[in-house]
Amino acid sequence: YDDRDGQIWMDGKLVPWRDAKVHILTHAMHYASSVFEGERCYNGTIFKSREHSERLIRSGQLIDIDIPYSVDQIEEAKAAVLKANDMQDAYVRVVAWRGAGEDMGVASARNPVRMAVAAWEWGAYYGDAKMQGAKLDIAKWKRPSPETIPSEAKAAGLYMICTMSKHAAEAKGCSDAMMLDYRGYVAEATGANIFFVKDGEVHTPLPDCFLNGITRQTVIEMLKERDITVHERHIMPEELDGFQQCWLTGTAAEVTPVGQIGDFRFEVGTLTREIAESYEKLVRA
Ligand code: PMP
Repeated sequence: YDDRDGQIWMDGKLVPWRDAKVHILTHAMHYASSVFEGERCYNGTIFKSREHSERLIRSGQLIDIDIPYSVDQIEEAKAAVLKANDMQDAYVRVVAWRGAGEDMGVASARNPVRMAVAAWEWGAYYGDAKMQGAKLDIAKWKRPSPETIPSEAKAAGLYMICTMSKHAAEAKGCSDAMMLDYRGYVAEATGANIFFVKDGEVHTPLPDCFLNGITRQTVIEMLKERDITVHERHIMPEELDGFQQCWLTGTAAEVTPVGQIGDFRFEVGTLTREIAESYEKLVRA
């Protein structure tokens, strides 16, 4: 991703893509002092853009990073990037981190907080699996308790076990991994939330130790508008046997059907297809 044309916004100005660099003694690289957002722009408009900017600031607060930009300034930065790169449809990545400076120990309060915005084209997150139903492994790593880490933050440190789980899943020929939480309940995939369907009703894990995704909340609203009952609750992995359909939600994943998790199989059913299509329409509206 580093060697290409384009412009990236860094600390208040646009720089050529290849020059958007940081020093090796950047605090974030050693201690994961970084928060980020993943957003999608459809036909020139970022879906729920302000909500993402607000979440970025909140994620920062949760891990002691005071982002020196307001929501309006973050919005302007994203708009500047899309304009400079002449993009209508793109994935937008905003990242804020503790930079290099006075401190190189664990504490870094004196180091500057920096921010960057990049945008690029990113098709279906699960590639061909998108409409056929993705195959998921069950991760061995568990999502941590909110007493262990601020688990509702979209913070880099929370992704270490996600990357490891996704690598392990891919090595087994799967697209992703479903992760359980510290209590053994179903949590989410490594970068997307999860939904199940049983006898026309929807069941989805209660987001009490992982990201309550913006796509997740959007899909729950869509289901409620259709008078479909949504149970937000703790789900045991044994229950997967009784579910007929399953899908993932996320900015990158959008609504992706799941065909298999471990030995459990699901059909790409009518409701899954309807929700995927409605989401597609909504984001482009
Ligand atoms: N969980 C994790 C771990 C994620 O990385 C993402 C993607 N941001 C999601 C859930 C879905 O969140 P959203 O719908 O806000 O993109």
